[in-house]
Amino acid sequence: MFDRAVQVIPGGIYGHLGPSEGCYIPRDAYPLFSARAEGTRFWDLDGNEFIDYMCGYGPNVLGYNDPIVAEAAQRQARREDVVSIPGSTMVEFAELLTDTVACADWAFFAKNGGDVTTLAVMTARAATGRQRIVFFEGYYHGVDPWAQKLDYPGVLEQDVLGNIEARWNDIADLRRIFAAHRGEIAALIAQPYKHGNFYDNELPVEGYWKQVRRLCDEYGIVLIVDDVRAGWRLDLAGSDHHYGFKADLITFCKALANGYNVSALCGVEALREPVSSITYTGSYWMSAVPFAAGIATITRLAEIDAPALFRRLGTELTDGLVEVAATHGHRLVVSGEPALFYLRLADDDSLDLHQRWIAERVRRGVFLTSHHNHFINAALTSADIARTLEIADAAFAALERP
Ligand code: PMP
Repeated sequence: MFDRAVQVIPGGIYGHLGPSEGCYIPRDAYPLFSARAEGTRFWDLDGNEFIDYMCGYGPNVLGYNDPIVAEAAQRQARREDVVSIPGSTMVEFAELLTDTVACADWAFFAKNGGDVTTLAVMTARAATGRQRIVFFEGYYHGVDPWAQKLDYPGVLEQDVLGNIEARWNDIADLRRIFAAHRGEIAALIAQPYKHGNFYDNELPVEGYWKQVRRLCDEYGIVLIVDDVRAGWRLDLAGSDHHYGFKADLITFCKALANGYNVSALCGVEALREPVSSITYTGSYWMSAVPFAAGIATITRLAEIDAPALFRRLGTELTDGLVEVAATHGHRLVVSGEPALFYLRLADDDSLDLHQRWIAERVRRGVFLTSHHNHFINAALTSADIARTLEIADAAFAALERP
């Protein structure tokens, strides 16, 4: 299938879902196309079964094909989906988000995470009349030109000229940047903690976010929290709420509708007028089926207190993995939040051992990638975790064989 794909699709599978980009799993261990998915598992074209800790890179939050979400989506599909004017489901979804998300006085819907990070930046520029954007080192906010780097093909100098990078968890660095560019900075855009690739993920140090919030207020800078990845897994009121501060704008996608395609920008009252002034829409942005799926997803996440469940399951899994690693003489470093855990085998500067260990696990039916955070979903059980630990053990043993 991959041979067919490369004939008709640039690169065969583009972006980070491809066999080499970002995941670093040897091609012979990596399932390239899936045929079916259910709960916490998917099956590849050859019928191999995988317990999936990538969760579609985030969207699978309740379980693939969750029956409650599927039923809500199908009910909506029988009534209507894309029509010349929006259905009332859009309003109901916005009401649910403004009731659930702490900083949200309004909600605006689109399709992908990048649609709403871009709208957030445009809103901040419209509100402040300023151009520059401050990011934290190692950021990822989608693939629109403003969020890329100067040396990326297709990016113009003027797309990224005003971008400034600050060091994460270093309030003095942020203060220096804000002071040096007083009156020029429209927004600070940040993930709720540093969850990039190829390094241990870093949680905010005590008091850091409150200081960032104060600095943004002092300099009139819009504080954007990009919750596209962590959203709905740490706190249903938003990851800013989880860390004890309030964003001006917050972006959601991935887990928002359990795989149905919708994203959202939520914000505070003061930014309602600036966001309304922007011309921004898309062919499918008001389709009703994903809104119905989103309502069912968030309602269900609240019913089961999903963030507490993810913390418990993530901790059970990662504690177990650390123990298994130790029995083979390895130190496994776990970082980030348990719901989105990041793994690294210590004393492996070349990263080779880690990649081979991940590959041996993928070969045995546990789907992970090498240098990216993983995701927990609500369909995962303690029995799945026990099976995952057995496979982790067998994978270490396979590495030890000459
Ligand atoms: N922000 C963050 C933090 C993300 O993780 C992602 C997707 N990986 C995006 C933005 C972009 O979202 P999308 O790929 O849906 O455009």
